[in-house]
Amino acid sequence: MHLQSLLDDIASKSSALAAKGKVADYIPGLAQVDPNRFGMAVATVEGELLGTGDWLVPFSIQSISKVFTLVLALALDGDKLWSRVGREPSGDPFNSLVQLEHERGIPRNPFINAGALVVTDRLLSLEEDAFGTLLSFLRHESGQPDLDTDQEVARSEAEHGHRNAALAHFMASFGNLENSVDRVLDHYFRQCAIAMSCADLAEAGLFLARHGLRRDGSRLLSPSQAKRVNAVMLTCGTYDTAGDFAFRVGLPGKSGVGGGILAIIPGRCSLCVWGPALDPSGTSLAGVDALDRFTTLTGWSVF
Ligand code: GLU
Repeated sequence: MHLQSLLDDIASKSSALAAKGKVADYIPGLAQVDPNRFGMAVATVEGELLGTGDWLVPFSIQSISKVFTLVLALALDGDKLWSRVGREPSGDPFNSLVQLEHERGIPRNPFINAGALVVTDRLLSLEEDAFGTLLSFLRHESGQPDLDTDQEVARSEAEHGHRNAALAHFMASFGNLENSVDRVLDHYFRQCAIAMSCADLAEAGLFLARHGLRRDGSRLLSPSQAKRVNAVMLTCGTYDTAGDFAFRVGLPGKSGVGGGILAIIPGRCSLCVWGPALDPSGTSLAGVDALDRFTTLTGWSVF
C-alpha cells in the first residue's frame, strides 16, 4: 500500500464534509478560520513523516492539549491523580456542569473541560513553571522550537470563558482545586490556544504509539500508563460521541474544537487530521470521516 496516495485520496473525499459542519464560534478567536481547510499527517514509529493538504499549517489545538497535560501530570505524580478525576465516559457535552453536582466535584474523566481543569491544577502544583514544561515538551517532541500560544485566541477564550470559570469555581467549592481559579484558568486557556500543525501533533503524540518512549528514547510513561492513556482516549476522547468514534474509527483519539483530531495506532503510528467544520458535539466532521477511511482502507486498528 502506498501511504502517500492513500492520504491524498482520503483528503479529496473527506474534505467535502466541511460543507455539513460549522466552525466553533463560541470562542470568537476561532470563528475566522476557513472551514474548508483540510490536512492530515502520519508519523510512524520507524521515523517516517508524511501528510497531505494543509498538514503543515498551524491551527488551535484546543482540547488536544488535554492529552499532553494528562501525560505530564501522570509522569510526575503517578496514579494519585485518579483520586481527583475519573475515567468513565461522560455522555455529556464537553463543557457540561450537570454531572459535577451529583458527583461532588469529581469530573468523570480528564478530557471533559472539568477534568482537564483538575489535571492542569495538579500540574501547576507539581511544576514551578507548568506552562514552560508543557511547551518545552511539545517543542521537543514535535521538533519545532518556535511553537507557541496564539495570544489572541487565548485572550478571546478568557473573555468568553464563563462556563469554564463556573466549572472551576464549582470544583473549588468541593475542595477539588489546589490553586486559585484564576491561575488554573489562565494556564488552561493558554494551553488550549497553542498553535500546531498536523505534522507537529502527529510527531508530538508519537510517544503514545511507542508505548511511552519519547523522541530521544527516554521514557515518559511506563507501557502500562501509555496503554491506559490510550484507553481513556478511546473511551472519552471525543466527548458524547466517543462511542460513535470508537465504532467508526476504532482507535484512541482526542478531538479539539479547533478542528483537529489526534489518533494513535499503538506500535505503528500517530495520526493527526484537521478540518475546522465541526459536528454538534465539537468534533471535526471531515476528521472523523478521514480516520474512518484510513482505518477501513489500511485495516490498521486496535481491533
Ligand atoms: N478551549 C475549549 C473550551 O474550553 C476546548 C474545548 C474543546 O476543544 O473541546 O471550551
